Amino acid sequence: MDESDLDIKNIRKDFPILSQEVYGKPLIYLDNAATTQKPIQVIRKIDEVYSTINANIHRGVHHLSQLATEAHEEARKTVQRYIGAAHSREIIFTSGTTGSINLVASSFCRSQCKAGDEIILTAMEHHANIVPWQIQRDIMGVQLKVVPFTEKGEIRLEDIEELISSKTKLLSLTHVSNVLGTVNPVADIIRLAHNYNVPVLIDAAQSVQHEAINVQALDCDFMVFSSHKMYGPTGIGVLYGKETWLDKLPPYQGGGEMIAHVSFEKTTFNELPFKFEAGTPDYVGSTALGEAIRYIENLGLNNIRKREDRLLRYATEKLLQIPGMQIFGTSDKKAPVISFLVGGIHPYDMGMLLDRLGIAVRTGHHCAQPLMDALGIEGTIRASLAFYNTEEEIDALIAGIERVAKMF
Ligand code: PMP
Repeated sequence: MDESDLDIKNIRKDFPILSQEVYGKPLIYLDNAATTQKPIQVIRKIDEVYSTINANIHRGVHHLSQLATEAHEEARKTVQRYIGAAHSREIIFTSGTTGSINLVASSFCRSQCKAGDEIILTAMEHHANIVPWQIQRDIMGVQLKVVPFTEKGEIRLEDIEELISSKTKLLSLTHVSNVLGTVNPVADIIRLAHNYNVPVLIDAAQSVQHEAINVQALDCDFMVFSSHKMYGPTGIGVLYGKETWLDKLPPYQGGGEMIAHVSFEKTTFNELPFKFEAGTPDYVGSTALGEAIRYIENLGLNNIRKREDRLLRYATEKLLQIPGMQIFGTSDKKAPVISFLVGGIHPYDMGMLLDRLGIAVRTGHHCAQPLMDALGIEGTIRASLAFYNTEEEIDALIAGIERVAKMF
């Protein structure tokens, strides 16, 4: 199947929510970077697990517990295959990108850092890749260094290299900016960091649903992402870590599942991946995430990327024809995320009025206030696309913006 074979009209029927009306207008959902809509296959999978195999996993000898355990572990293998990890024990299920980064920040800084050591971030990070490190700064005394971005919204390798010192312990950066859409050259960045023996964490929250990623080819040390941004359920996400790193890091949370033996004197910890999965895991979520991955694989990530590239180009060209349009993030390599302002119109006003037309966009700082500070603005309007969006929906967005602009 190639991109031109994607039958979008029929594919949209897989997403029940897309046929809804909002204020009597057809819903035009352009907030996919915040969360994607779910295909019926994923929704049915959640129903199926609760209806047929629900039981707590791992410790049960009974039939249902074994089926639920198998479903959860099968999902781990599906994630492993999707990102090309060497072993399924390198896949840790967490509550999401935020949960994954908090895990690494805490376990890594506690075990690998001392006061004065440095963690490098970039100025385009989501708060989820800033605040967990600041918490460690306050606990451990690690220092944070920040790589700037250029006018086009790009990260330059030389700026990273300049910040690396003998005290640098980790570089943690986003693959794709959730505001600018920039696709950072992570393969080159990882190679550079590794030249200085600096491990790299990739925040793939905005990339793993748009392009094929192979963690072994990339050679990243950690990668994190959320299920809900890749057509899967909320409440679950992934931490990938190289086994050598995960072995070195202490557990993040304590509780059931993550132990080998507990006495009041001493507890020994379970092996990977269970060492990092304290408590009853979200086996319903993991199983449904596996279904979402199969859905993506069925369409083909390359086909998805080609279609989204085309939609991005179409939307960008049309938006730029609107008087007073300013797009933030003009890199040649972009995911389908467009942040913009129109004249002096406040993003909130634009968002509210577009909403009345049935058009869902996001407005504000998009959990990236330092990025907004660097741009010298308070917020933007953000339209973020998925393969199920259409040219007609983009035309409606353009008409909506023009209508709102006329009112001001
Ligand atoms: N990083 C990036 C780049 C994101 O876009 C987001 C979600 N907006 C996050 C991290 C946080 O993801 P979650 O809220 O699913 O943990």
